[in-house]
Amino acid sequence: GKVLITGVNGFLGTWVAKKLLEEGYAVRGTVRSEDKSVYLKKLYSNFGDKFESTVVPDITKDGAFDGAVKDVNAIIHLAAPFHMSAVDPAEIINPAVEGTNSVLQSTLTHGTRVRRFVLTSSVAAIMELLPEAPVFNEESWNEQSIRNCREQGKDAQQHDKYLASKTLSERAAWDFVEKNKDRIKFDLVVLNPAIVLGPILHEVADPMKLNMSMLEHYISVVAGARSDEELFAINNSWVDIRDVADAHALALQKQEAAGERLLIAAEPYVWQEWVNAAHAQDSSLPAGNPNADISKAVYQMKYSNEKAARILGSTKYKTKEETTRDILVSYREKGWLP
Ligand code: NDP
Repeated sequence: GKVLITGVNGFLGTWVAKKLLEEGYAVRGTVRSEDKSVYLKKLYSNFGDKFESTVVPDITKDGAFDGAVKDVNAIIHLAAPFHMSAVDPAEIINPAVEGTNSVLQSTLTHGTRVRRFVLTSSVAAIMELLPEAPVFNEESWNEQSIRNCREQGKDAQQHDKYLASKTLSERAAWDFVEKNKDRIKFDLVVLNPAIVLGPILHEVADPMKLNMSMLEHYISVVAGARSDEELFAINNSWVDIRDVADAHALALQKQEAAGERLLIAAEPYVWQEWVNAAHAQDSSLPAGNPNADISKAVYQMKYSNEKAARILGSTKYKTKEETTRDILVSYREKGWLP
């Protein structure tokens, strides 16, 4: 079958497309301008005409995806703003929510062959900062960031603005499907990945232009731009990009995934653990604070991956060591290591 991937030129999009092409799918990817597809056409050249791209300049426009959804059997919606530079929270929330509604609406009216719609949400739509860190599962919704944005407006923390955009766009998708349940011929699967790390496959001019998760990795592990305190305090859970790409393929294939929200997360971390893993493999990289006692790290973002294992049937996740090795290879190929 043929799958539409929105935001195909991003970190996730490039890997998800590669995975689907390898599995024999035809892929149509959306980009915001034609120049962004040149690199991808070269990257996927050995798949012949199985890869095509289409330009959707403004995802928020009504009917923006009317052409793109034609003749595809499934959709993976990845395009969404992921940055920490919004002034007004609406600057990031509106494109995320309107983009989601727009592709769903086009699917309803023009995507007559679509049977499955996979939305890439995030742990952002699940976790809250709580005094006692629970193990979050798919029942949890991040209301905290929405509240903070509403109460603090422009002064809200940058991460709350992004987190709220993910919660609100995921909710928009569930609402859309519920509201149109008598008319739609597709089911919705939502994936909620943790921080995605792994080798760089997409086109990036310089490391400071990396997508958010890999930018965090680069500045912590290569640039040495974080204090010892930050390396030990900033924590989340992570998952390898190849495991995320696999989860997207399985989300298309597993009948049981219909109508489910699935957390895709390997394990929690603090950045010092990534510094340690990289320094062990390449001693020219920063050591951070090698004496930090990782067993004392406080993890506030722990997620159950039990439901995804049950429904997608995948339980093996890459380790920090494997992922570090492959990330360093990709940084080295780009000339980004000291
Ligand atoms: P990237 O920044 O690499 O890719 C984002 C993609 O979305 C690009 O194709 C980008 O296009 C497009 N995009 C961004 N803003 C807009 C907009 N306003 N209108 C149209 N298109 C837009 O990020 P990732 O690959 O990391 O993220 C992809 C998705 O995965 C996002 O939905 C993100 O929330 C989600 N996610 C990411 C995680 C991570 O750790 N990386 C974790 C969990 C979820 P362009 O290149 O033209 O800007």
